[in-house]
Amino acid sequence: MTNKSKSISIVVPAYNEEGNIQKLYDEIMKNIDHQSLLELIFVDDGSKDNTWQMINNLHNEDHRVVGMRFSRNFGHQYALLAGLSAAKGDAVITMDADLQHPPELIPVMVEKWREGYKIVKTVRRNNERISFFKRITSYVFYKVFSFLCGVELSDGMADFRLLDRMVVQHIIQNREVSLFLRGLIEWVGFESSIIEYTSKERFSGTTKYSFVKMVRLAWAGITSFSIIPLRFGIILGIFSSSYAFYRLFYAIYIKLFTNSAVPGWASIIGVVSLLFGFLFILLGIIGEYIGRILIQVQGRERFIVSDCTESVIPTNKPLSGSF
Ligand code: UDP
Ligand code: MG
Repeated sequence: MTNKSKSISIVVPAYNEEGNIQKLYDEIMKNIDHQSLLELIFVDDGSKDNTWQMINNLHNEDHRVVGMRFSRNFGHQYALLAGLSAAKGDAVITMDADLQHPPELIPVMVEKWREGYKIVKTVRRNNERISFFKRITSYVFYKVFSFLCGVELSDGMADFRLLDRMVVQHIIQNREVSLFLRGLIEWVGFESSIIEYTSKERFSGTTKYSFVKMVRLAWAGITSFSIIPLRFGIILGIFSSSYAFYRLFYAIYIKLFTNSAVPGWASIIGVVSLLFGFLFILLGIIGEYIGRILIQVQGRERFIVSDCTESVIPTNKPLSGSF
C-alpha cells in the first residue's frame, strides 16, 4: 500500500475554545484531501464553556468529527496524548484549536510524509504577532533545555506536527508522567522534516497557557529529560570549598604575618548564609525529583475521559496523573 491511499487523523486539544471550533473545522475542510481524512478528533480538556456542545454539533453533522471530554482540565500535553492514543490513522496531525497553526500547511505536511518522512515538524517564524514576552521566554527556555538535556530543540517549535503511525505507537507506549511531547519526539528519533510557518493571531478567545502553566511545562520538560540540575550541587560544592580554602589560608597568613586582629564576623555570616542558600536550593531540586518519582510510582491515570461522541476511548492503558 502506498502512502497515497493511507489515512490521516487530526487531533485538536481544546480548552474553552467555543469560538474557534467551527472556524477551525471549516478551515481544515477547505484544506484537507477528503479521501484521506479519516477523523478529526477534538479532545475537550475540561472546558467550562460550550466547547463540548460545539464538538457534538459538528459530530452530528459530520461523523468524521469525533470528540472526547476530560473529567477536568488535565492539561494540553495530556489532551494531545489522549488524542494520539485514540487516533486510528496512518499519520496523525496535532494542532491547536485557535487557528494559530495554519490549516493551509496540512497538505504540505502530508506531502512531506508521502515523501517518506516519519515526522514532519513545524517551526514558528517569529513575528510581531507573538508577544515580546512569549518570544523571549521561549528563546531562553529552548536554549536552557538544549544545554541541560542534550536534546536539540528549535525555538518556536510547538505541538503542530505530523507523526507517522510507527512514531505514534512509540509515543503512546511511553509511561512518563511529566509529559513533554516536544522532547519525547526528538528523543524517539526517525527521519524528520521541518516546515516554517508564520503564526497568525488567535482567532477567538485568549491564551489558555497561563504563565504558571508555561513554567510547569518548562520544568516538566527539563526534569524529565535531564538530571544535570542534580549535579549543580557538585559544582556549587567545588566553588564553595575552594572559597573556604582561600579564606583558611588568608586567616593563617593574617595570624602569622600581621598584627591586625580579624573581626571576621561579617565574612563568617556571609559565607554561612551563602552556603545555607546553596543547600536549600539543592534540597529543593532533590525534593522536586523525589516528588516526580512519587507521582510516577503512584501510577495514577494521566487523564480521565468522562464522555465520548463514540467509541474513541484511548487504546493505551493510561497511567499516572497530571500535576
Ligand atoms: N489547551 C488545552 N489545555 C490547557 C491549555 C491549553 O487543551 O490546559 C489547548 C488550547 O485549547 C489550544 C492549545 O492547547 O488548542 C494551545 O493553547 P494556547 O493557544 O492557549 O497556547 P498559546 O498559543 O498561547 O501558547
Ligand atoms: Mg495559541
